Amino acid sequence: MSLSPEELDRHRRHILLKEIGGPGVQKLRAASVSIIGAGALGGPAALYLAAAGVGRIEIWDDDRVERSNLQRQVQFAEADTGAVKAETLGARIAALDPSIDVRVMAKRFAEDSRPEGTVLVDASDNFATRFALNRLAHASGRALVSAAVSGWTGQVGVFASGVIAQAPCYQCWVPEAPPAAEACDEVGVVGAVTGLTGSILALETVKWITGAGDPLIGRILVIDGLRSETRTVRLRRDLQCPVCSA
Ligand SMILES: [Zn+2]
Repeated sequence: MSLSPEELDRHRRHILLKEIGGPGVQKLRAASVSIIGAGALGGPAALYLAAAGVGRIEIWDDDRVERSNLQRQVQFAEADTGAVKAETLGARIAALDPSIDVRVMAKRFAEDSRPEGTVLVDASDNFATRFALNRLAHASGRALVSAAVSGWTGQVGVFASGVIAQAPCYQCWVPEAPPAAEACDEVGVVGAVTGLTGSILALETVKWITGAGDPLIGRILVIDGLRSETRTVRLRRDLQCPVCSA
């Protein structure tokens, strides 16, 4: 698949990078990504993946836009209040690049959901969805790029247990949901930290698809917005893990 003059023009700044280049842009055009969650993480992730020219983007979310979302979900405007998030975000992506095949799944991701993407992006806000996505990613041999935010902190990791031998899965890291797990409905979260973390979801997905650099496989990037520091936590495959060592 060669790039059209329009694609060469649009993706020039990626083509100029030796780690992406024309072949990387072609891989992005041929890629298919499912993003679970169209909120504070899914917005920036979807917009940057669309801008990067990912050929097919599927968006899962059953929520509607509320005014309290606008503090961080910058993909939405005041006039979108009450609209279905997945549809509104899908329309933003289509407006950004009409050549992208956008699939809107305006329903809640569940255990029996079958996302099409060859890369799964976890931009959800709950452990049940993360665990279900992790099981699906492992069983179907797909990478799971996952992020979470709370307060001033964001975390991102790439879980590739179904693709790379010895790579840990999400449940090697988080064996079970913490007892005090709360969604950001109940705790505060800084809007700019969600934007930063959602952008890293897109960054890691672009790296995974193009083969550029070192994705966060077996590592968690922790962003501390309050101290303006980042650190990386190394993970190992848990030999007792019910998902990837079964
Ligand atoms: Zn595991």
